[in-house]
Amino acid sequence: MKKIGVYPGSFDPVTLGHLDIIERAVPLFDRLIVACGENLSKKPFFNARQRVEMLKQVTASFPRVEVDSFSTLLAHYVKEKKATTIVRGLRAVSDFEHEFQAAIINRKLAPEVETIFLMTKEEHLYLSSSIVKEIALLGGCIKGLVPEIIEEKLVERFEKSLHSLR
Ligand code: ADP
Repeated sequence: MKKIGVYPGSFDPVTLGHLDIIERAVPLFDRLIVACGENLSKKPFFNARQRVEMLKQVTASFPRVEVDSFSTLLAHYVKEKKATTIVRGLRAVSDFEHEFQAAIINRKLAPEVETIFLMTKEEHLYLSSSIVKEIALLGGCIKGLVPEIIEEKLVERFEKSLHSLR
């Protein structure tokens, strides 16, 4: 039986922290689905189509990675994909409570699916999509925080939103 993992997230936008988790999760599975959540409670900066497109570009060199989006319950999505494992990244203790709760709920909804956590690399400890957006919004340098192609997309997107405000 093929081992399929799902790495879900908002990826708004994908950062080098996410990419590092993807790189380290790839050898653990026959197929890794990076699943972009539509997440009704968060108002994303990039729409789902743009986030999926960016993920596809930065994971193009990984043949075993597939990018998808989902808008249903994660537990249902994972079962539908016949995946065995949910992969999540952990940065700090502050991530733990929320992740612990989500893992328990997902186990209730899909007992056959295991959640595993990969620890961040030290250099990505403080890296999040929100901090990247904040730095970019205030005109700071986001080099070394996101893949180069994403830097360009962020700048483009901010220029567009500034333009619409004028
Ligand atoms: P969500 O809104 O589902 O938390 P994110 O896109 O913010 O989506 O994160 C997706 C997953 O990636 C989460 O498990 C998160 O903890 C992890 N993650 C985000 N940034 C990093 C990082 N710098 N290092 C390790 N894991 C990270």
